[in-house]
Amino acid sequence: MTYVITQPCIGVKDASCVDVCPVDCIHPSQNEEGFDTAEQLYINPDECIDCGACEPACPVTAIFEESATPDEWKHFIKINADFFK
Ligand code: SF4
Ligand code: SF4
Repeated sequence: MTYVITQPCIGVKDASCVDVCPVDCIHPSQNEEGFDTAEQLYINPDECIDCGACEPACPVTAIFEESATPDEWKHFIKINADFFK
């Protein structure tokens, strides 16, 4: 299981989630190449430990536990995973 970043992050991208993630699995972070041009941030499903810390940190409710992702945003599960391929 993993957490997933969805549509509301697009255009907000304030990186509050990056600051609270204990395993640094949310990318690109502010000081990484690609942050400025990234549409949104993404959670690496292979590294996320499912702690849930990022979910309440997001000001726009963009983050969901994978199985709780709203139907209209389920495609973001693949979008997050594909970013790390
Ligand atoms: S659930 Fe925890 S480990 Fe996974 S992305 Fe959020 S803060 Fe990081
Ligand atoms: S806290 Fe929410 S809006 Fe901010 S970067 Fe993370 S997912 Fe995007």
